[in-house]
Amino acid sequence: RAKADGRRMACYFDPRMDHRARERYSLQLDLRAGIPNEELRVYYQPLATIEGEVFGFEALVRWQHPKYGLLAPETFISTAEQNGLIIEIGEWVLRQACREAALWANPLQISVNLSPVQFRNGDFPDFLQSVLSNTGLAPQRLELEITEGVLINDTSRALSILRRLKSLKVKVAMDDFGTGFSSLSSLQSFPFDKIKIDRSFVAGVDSNPQSAAIVRAVIALGNGLDIPVIAEGVETESEHDFLKREGCREVQGYLIGRPKPIASYSGLTQAAHVLNAANVH
Ligand code: C2E
Ligand code: MG
Ligand code: MG
Ligand code: MG
Repeated sequence: RAKADGRRMACYFDPRMDHRARERYSLQLDLRAGIPNEELRVYYQPLATIEGEVFGFEALVRWQHPKYGLLAPETFISTAEQNGLIIEIGEWVLRQACREAALWANPLQISVNLSPVQFRNGDFPDFLQSVLSNTGLAPQRLELEITEGVLINDTSRALSILRRLKSLKVKVAMDDFGTGFSSLSSLQSFPFDKIKIDRSFVAGVDSNPQSAAIVRAVIALGNGLDIPVIAEGVETESEHDFLKREGCREVQGYLIGRPKPIASYSGLTQAAHVLNAANVH
């Protein structure tokens, strides 16, 4: 009996839960300090044609925590979206990615993720314009990745923001396609430059008939609407073969390359250093 009571107590007063909540709170304080302390990093993952030619990179944020090491975005982005810190993070990532891409020897595409919170913030288009002019990055090289979520609540406002972004000549991709609600209608109401098939559908596309059906349908949809489609999360040759057979023209995933710091792409950066030196003298 006593044992049963003890178990019930453990259920109501789970010390681990309290611990987790405290941990989350302290992580958020760490992040507030970590941004000005320059603890954020941008990693770059290649985007390639189905033939294997790299045409750009997606910027993916990491947090080099002084105690916990390198943290992935899922450990801090959603909290940052709730407490508003995402605005600062997103601005830092955009500025950093544009600044670095502007130095690349090859004028490849740079893709940057945009949080719905950042997107709805009225200042974003002005901020973007200032980043483009301060970094000198050609706007045609920048693609902003947004999820369907931004279009759900206030569609007409979202559309007017999207049109402002397009008027700055940047591209806009729909990220994680298929995981949200409003996929089809949003594709009709706004001319997206790209559809990114979520990696949950791509994983196992070669062996899972449901995934295969969905991916096939999205590729057909993109072809029909004349919107290029990229498959994210391609990990195996066999997934790649499937995508190629079905007419998918672009891929992203561990098979092509993992996200890495910019210094790992020696071709891009060495050449950029030469260019920098040339600019200085
Ligand atoms: P996302 O934009 O859909 O980015 C793709 C994610 O899939 C990345 O995870 C990438 O590392 C991962 N990935 C790519 N290829 C493969 C693969 O072959 N296998 C597996 N297992 N994973 C693969 P990551 O870097 O952890 O980012 C997760 C999410 O965090 C991103 O999903 C994006 O929604 C968000 N995120 C990342 N950076 C930023 C940012 O700067 N701002 C905002 N707002 N969100 C960001
Ligand atoms: Mg993305
Ligand atoms: Mg994605
Ligand atoms: Mg995704």
